[in-house]
Amino acid sequence: MKVCKFGGSSLANAAQLKKVIDIVLADPARRIVVVSAPGKRHEGDTKVTDLLIELAELAMRGENTDRQFGAVVERYAEMAAELNLGEEIVRRIELDITDRLAQVGSLAPEEFMDLMKAAGEDDNAKLVAVAFAARGRKARYVNPKDSGMILTGRFGDATLDPDSYAILGRAFSNFDGIVIYPGFFGYTRDGKVATFPRGGSDITGSILAAAVRADVYENFTDVDSVYPCDPRIVEEVKNGEGIPTMTYREMRELSYAGFGVFNDDAVIPAVRARIPINIRNTNHPAEPGTMIQQSRRVVPGTVVGVASADGFCNIVVEKYLMNRQIGFGRRLLQVLEDAGISYEHMPSGVDSQCVVVKEQFIPKEMEHRLVQALKKALDPDFITIERDLTMLMIVGEGMCYTPGMLAKACLALASVGISMSMVNQGSSEVSFMIAIRSKDRDQAVRALYRAFFT
Ligand code: ASP
Repeated sequence: MKVCKFGGSSLANAAQLKKVIDIVLADPARRIVVVSAPGKRHEGDTKVTDLLIELAELAMRGENTDRQFGAVVERYAEMAAELNLGEEIVRRIELDITDRLAQVGSLAPEEFMDLMKAAGEDDNAKLVAVAFAARGRKARYVNPKDSGMILTGRFGDATLDPDSYAILGRAFSNFDGIVIYPGFFGYTRDGKVATFPRGGSDITGSILAAAVRADVYENFTDVDSVYPCDPRIVEEVKNGEGIPTMTYREMRELSYAGFGVFNDDAVIPAVRARIPINIRNTNHPAEPGTMIQQSRRVVPGTVVGVASADGFCNIVVEKYLMNRQIGFGRRLLQVLEDAGISYEHMPSGVDSQCVVVKEQFIPKEMEHRLVQALKKALDPDFITIERDLTMLMIVGEGMCYTPGMLAKACLALASVGISMSMVNQGSSEVSFMIAIRSKDRDQAVRALYRAFFT
């Protein structure tokens, strides 16, 4: 059985919805269909989820909501009209949103917000089920409450209650036909609607794929496959091959450095259950897309992708004979822990220790205080915080045990006159990272692309 998830761009209008139905009907194994709320129809359009957020905010401020309410209903009405689904489904959606709005005073603000946000997916799932029926194929809308999608944690940032896997698995152990399942939300144990973080329909799909032990989790979006580097930086990458297969490890490393393949949280359920994930394009369903799985056949000496992420800084501490001091590293990290700062990497030299941190954790106004605390704890000879660093990540299982991969990257950067501020390779050898100044990012990524892919 396959679980497929269609994102907002795949469900933005009637033409897209027709493609979705064709895709599902083309393969009888596609049995659970997770849907997002309708997304943007064109540049400058607004996603239904964003309209709903605006609507909720107006309602909470006690302002007039007519225009936003009309805009939300219109998105569904437009699809229903184009697909000849009749008036009934539009009335149901209108009523549903009216009922939700009526709860404005009786719920805490964050609860009300989640209730409103969830309408995007919930009403879309109902409409999609009706659209299948109009094509003469029965598809059943299933509500997350009835199937056991129990969430805990904070509203708007909820996580799955681990007991849910078994409950969801049982709910789908014996079912006929096609199920249409709204993404992005579930219910708390006391029956309140709660949503995952934005983009959370991916999480729903991944959870269901794990719960039913699907053969594959197909995630339909608007790209043919994952490109080996960011097409906004290297435009020609679009003319070349996408990545046919990658391992979970490779995906994790690439997404760490900004590859927008998936939100890390979204894949955890599928990865833990070892369900292969297939990224595919709703607009080109014949394309095989990118398959992400536990292992793959690897060609030695090859790289799967080059990623880059801005927004890092480096705390550099130097102290003569540091290597003989016991507890230096612990004291350094203790200062960061006390300040609530999580660190990323810790490269070191004989008498120097660096700690790479996301810049957002050390805003400029905090820097002086932090440096003072480090001076007090470590009595260093020199301390500085380098800002505006970009982390380049060169990733590939094919690099393991292959000499010269780092040399190739260094030569590529040297050829365009870029100096490196840090190099770091973990013992897995599946990736190495190089920190450079952010101003050099685009040139560096292009040089690495040329070195490894052309
Ligand atoms: N509709 C929600 C959002 O825009 C969830 C999703 O599309 O995955 O964030």
